[in-house]
Amino acid sequence: MGYWKRHKRKDLEEVLEVFHQAGWLIEDPPTYYTLKCPCGKHMRWLHLTPSGANYGRNALAWGRRQPCWREGL
Ligand SMILES: [Zn+2]
Repeated sequence: MGYWKRHKRKDLEEVLEVFHQAGWLIEDPPTYYTLKCPCGKHMRWLHLTPSGANYGRNALAWGRRQPCWREGL
C-alpha cells in the first residue's frame, strides 16, 4: 500500500501504485493527485473523477514515455 490517500477507483489506485514503483512522488488531492517524477522535470495530474475509460491507461502510457521513467520491480 502506498503512503497516499487511496484513490476511490481501483484502476486508478493501481495507476498510482505503478507511478510510485517507477520512483514518482504522489501528492494527495484536494482536487487531483499530483505525480512528480524522480528527475524533477516532469509532472502530471491524476483526477479523482476522470471521464473516459482509458484515462488511467493514457496516464501510464504518458509516464512510460518520460525519459526518467524506470520500470518497477
Ligand atoms: Zn523526469
